Amino acid sequence: MNDQKYQDICQSCAMPMKKVADYGTNQDGSQNYDYCMHCYQQGAFTQPDISMDEMVKGCVGIMVQYGMGEQDAKAQIEPVIPTLKRWKKI
Ligand SMILES: [Zn+2]
Repeated sequence: MNDQKYQDICQSCAMPMKKVADYGTNQDGSQNYDYCMHCYQQGAFTQPDISMDEMVKGCVGIMVQYGMGEQDAKAQIEPVIPTLKRWKKI
């Protein structure tokens, strides 16, 4: 993504977003530039009640599935999640 308005990583779960299809959708069906399709669809979070801790756990679980050690995954994701737009204001 060369366009500045597109975030490189999802501002909810930190998933890298590389193509338009990775992005979530707004209520009117247009692309949402902040969040991935797993987190945000048709203008709403897919898991509106998830806490930041649960999000970290979920991310670690996915990274472990991709072959990363649990401690490594945690060390990598834990500092990132609180800086994302969805969690910053809490
Ligand atoms: Zn996401």
